[in-house]
Amino acid sequence: MEVRIPFQFEDKVVYGELGYVSPLIRRIVAPNPSLFTYKGTGTYIVGRGNVAVIDPGPNLGQHISAIVDALRDEVISHIVVTHTHSDHSSAANPLQQICGAPIYGRSLKIIDDCDDQQFEEEFDRGFTPTVEVSDGDVVEGDGWTLECVHTPGHMSNHICYRLTEERALFSGDHVMGWSTTVIIPPDGSMKAYLESLNKLLLADDDIYYPTHGPAISSPHRYVSACIEHRYEREREVIRSLKTGNTTIQELVTDVYQDIIQSLYPAASRSLFAILIKLWEEGRVLCKGEPNLFGEFRLRE
Ligand SMILES: [Zn+2]
Repeated sequence: MEVRIPFQFEDKVVYGELGYVSPLIRRIVAPNPSLFTYKGTGTYIVGRGNVAVIDPGPNLGQHISAIVDALRDEVISHIVVTHTHSDHSSAANPLQQICGAPIYGRSLKIIDDCDDQQFEEEFDRGFTPTVEVSDGDVVEGDGWTLECVHTPGHMSNHICYRLTEERALFSGDHVMGWSTTVIIPPDGSMKAYLESLNKLLLADDDIYYPTHGPAISSPHRYVSACIEHRYEREREVIRSLKTGNTTIQELVTDVYQDIIQSLYPAASRSLFAILIKLWEEGRVLCKGEPNLFGEFRLRE
C-alpha cells in the first residue's frame, strides 16, 4: 500500500507582511513562489525587541525592505541560516550590511560539477557566515535560545534550529509540510537524509516550522511517513532492478510511471540518490563510480 504523507497546505499568503506565529515567533513571506519554494520563502523572526532573523531569504530588495521596515522599532541581533540555497541565504549579506548583525550558519564545501540549478534553487556560493555553527552549538539572544541540529541530506550543510523555549524546530528544507524535499547528488545524500530524519525522531519537539509552507503540528507522525515513503521508493527500485532494468533511464520510466515526462530529469536525480545509497550499502553494484549514465545491478 502506498504511504500517505499527511501534507499540509496554506491558502493565502500576504507577501511582505509580518505575521504572528507564536509568542516568540513571527514570519514574513518573500514574493518568490515557484515549483520548489511553494508560496515563497518564510523568513522567521524570533524574539521581541532584540530578534534573530532565520533564513532571510532571496536577495530581493522588496523582501529585505519588508524585513527592515517591519522591525524598524526593534534590533536585529542575529541572522541565522539553515542552508545555502539562494532562496534561504542570499539576503544574509545585504541584510548584514544594513543591520550589522553576525551571520550564523555553515559554509559549503563547493562541488563544482553539481547540476543543482535545474531542479532546485541554486547554490549561494557567496555565503560566508560570521560564525560557523556545528551540531549541538547554541545560539542565544534576548529571551530565546536556538540549538543547532546538523541535518545533512537535502544539502550537506543543512542545520535545523531548535527554539528550546517553545519546543519548536525550524526545519528549513529538511522537513517541509507541503512536499517532500529534493535530494540531488553529489551534495545531496539519501543516506544522510534518512539518518537526519531518524535523528529528529529522537527529540521531542512539539511543532516544526519549515521555511516553505505551514507549520507541522504532529512532527513525529509526519517524519515517520517521510521515512517510510523513501523506503517504499527504494523497494520499487530494487523490484525494477530485479526485472533486468539497469540504467537510470530504464528505471525511471518503470518506477515513476505516475509522473509526467517533463519531471523525469528531476526524478532521475532522485533515483540516482537512491542508487548511490544502495551502492554505499553494498547492495547494488556499478561499473566504476556511480554516475547518471552508469549501469547498475543488484549484488547476487
Ligand atoms: Zn533548499
